[in-house]
Amino acid sequence: MKSEKYDQIFKLNKAWLESKKEEDHQYFKNLYEGQNPEFLYIGCSDSRVPANTITGLDVGDLFVHRNIANVVSNNDMNIMSVIQYAVEELKVKHIIVCGHYGCGGVKSAMEQKSYGLLDSWLRNIRDVYRHNYQELSVITDENTRYDRLVEMNVMEQVENVIKTSYVQKSYNKNGFPTVHGWVYDMKSGKLIDLDINFESCLKEVQKVYKID
Ligand SMILES: [Zn+2]
Repeated sequence: MKSEKYDQIFKLNKAWLESKKEEDHQYFKNLYEGQNPEFLYIGCSDSRVPANTITGLDVGDLFVHRNIANVVSNNDMNIMSVIQYAVEELKVKHIIVCGHYGCGGVKSAMEQKSYGLLDSWLRNIRDVYRHNYQELSVITDENTRYDRLVEMNVMEQVENVIKTSYVQKSYNKNGFPTVHGWVYDMKSGKLIDLDINFESCLKEVQKVYKID
């Protein structure tokens, strides 16, 4: 069944492409030639956290992977392929893992409730909860605990990116990419850099996961 909103998409597309061509008649031709993004962005699928919009970056600037709660799982061929391609072929300079306060995926992982198939995905976040249980359990305010788990999940996924051979090999050889952890605050629209020290994080991870 079609809806008014659905039909509108093609009208909006037409208006958008015309405005782009008006600014630069070569716009689409140039983009078609190839991509050279500086960033790989790994974020949440949440409709309220659109990568290009919140960063203010243009078409072609971001290579993007999104899933529920911005999880970087070693068993997920999808994200592992994205990371490999971004690092080895596109040679991105920065990889960003961006979580967000108010994340439904993180919230669900804090609840003692089953979500069917989603349970195995949320298990990645429950593991982050377990690894940090002591720190989290002393936070009595539920929303503060929830926000903290969002941040911890970002840090954990940053480490998971660093654990990959593609990132370690490239950094060793080229000095890039560096990996960053961000949180997007939906209430204010603000992007927060968690200021993760990439070098020391890499050293820490490599105590066990050095594969280059
Ligand atoms: Zn989310």
